[in-house]
Amino acid sequence: MAEKEGILVIAELSPAGAPDTVALELLGLGARLAASSGKQLQAAAVGGDTASAAATLIASGAAAVFTVEGSAYAAYDPDLHVTALEKVAEEAGPSAVLIANTTVGQDLGPRLAFALKAGLTTDAVSLEMKGGALASTKPICGGNAMAVFVSKGKPALATVRPGAGDAAEPDASRTGETVKVDVEAPSPRLSFGDKVLEEGEDVRLEEARVIVSGGRGLGGAEGFEQLRELAHLLGGAVGASRPPVDAGWWPSTQQVGITGKIVSPEVYVAVAISGSSQHLSGISDSRVIVAINKDPEAYIFKVSDYGVVGEWQQVLPALSSRIREIVGD
Ligand SMILES: Cc1cc2nc3c(=O)[nH]c(=O)nc-3n(C[C@H](O)[C@H](O)[C@H](O)COP(=O)(O)OP(=O)(O)OC[C@H]3O[C@@H](n4cnc5c(N)ncnc54)[C@H](O)[C@@H]3O)c2cc1C
Repeated sequence: MAEKEGILVIAELSPAGAPDTVALELLGLGARLAASSGKQLQAAAVGGDTASAAATLIASGAAAVFTVEGSAYAAYDPDLHVTALEKVAEEAGPSAVLIANTTVGQDLGPRLAFALKAGLTTDAVSLEMKGGALASTKPICGGNAMAVFVSKGKPALATVRPGAGDAAEPDASRTGETVKVDVEAPSPRLSFGDKVLEEGEDVRLEEARVIVSGGRGLGGAEGFEQLRELAHLLGGAVGASRPPVDAGWWPSTQQVGITGKIVSPEVYVAVAISGSSQHLSGISDSRVIVAINKDPEAYIFKVSDYGVVGEWQQVLPALSSRIREIVGD
């Protein structure tokens, strides 16, 4: 039976209708909050067909899944999704609502908060319940300090960086309730002229466990081919600082930093990147930072866990070849 005042995770679904990796991570984080506060862990799935998503969310720990489904919801539409989730929130009456800080989540979060007349903390890297209130920790001052925001009202909303939680091992024997929510979808105010599939990497930057990024010191687009090889060996994605993006060497979707993507991989390899504050504020939540730079005074060495002083043209092939030996590719 769905309880009021639960912890509600908004699950983003893939085009095929499965919950994204970040949704399952968020559910893992929500499970900790629910356990520490004695609240129920819930999820919301809005999509074309939500049956399999609901089963996965229950297997991953949700005690109740609120679904809104129909062909109109197959792709993200701000008006339709906000209206659907507003209705879900009305039905579920959650105390906290967790949204992934993805491209969709960054759009959805503020809209939903406005619709619910609720407070929102964006870009949280960790969450806890303090005296029944949601406390969200987030980087401030370009990533140089952390601040804790405690929400007063209910529900309290937070968008949370991918990688902040650990997904639970799915267990098909877990049971939970699926609550279908009927919503009268408003007429869409937006119509999408064309949809273009984002080109490029097999692994999305926001979800990558390993990111190899290149900077201006690569000198051109060719250098990125070598980064791609290293990233491939490590099962990761290729990012960039802003200058290579401005110069057209690498797609803007792959820019890391304050005006690009905020990432939190297990390993971030910065190649020929100096370490500006704008870049660092996008990577401060990485578990391990490795820097390769020819300038021993480069600021990136001050924030990295491992550093190699040298020309990338020499370091990268040696590194790739050693990793190839180890992984046997
Ligand atoms: C409002 C605003 C927003 C911004 N947003 C972002 C953002 O989101 N992301 C971002 O990245 N930047 C952003 N910037 C730009 C930022 O200020 C820096 O200019 C940028 O991060 C520098 O990129 P870089 O480190 O690649 O280049 P540089 O600072 O030029 O550093 C290049 C590095 O390469 C090294 N190098 C050169 N040749 C070699 C070699 N052969 N082998 C090894 N190392 C070599 C050099 O020693 C140097 O350290 C923003 C700026 C502004 C004003």
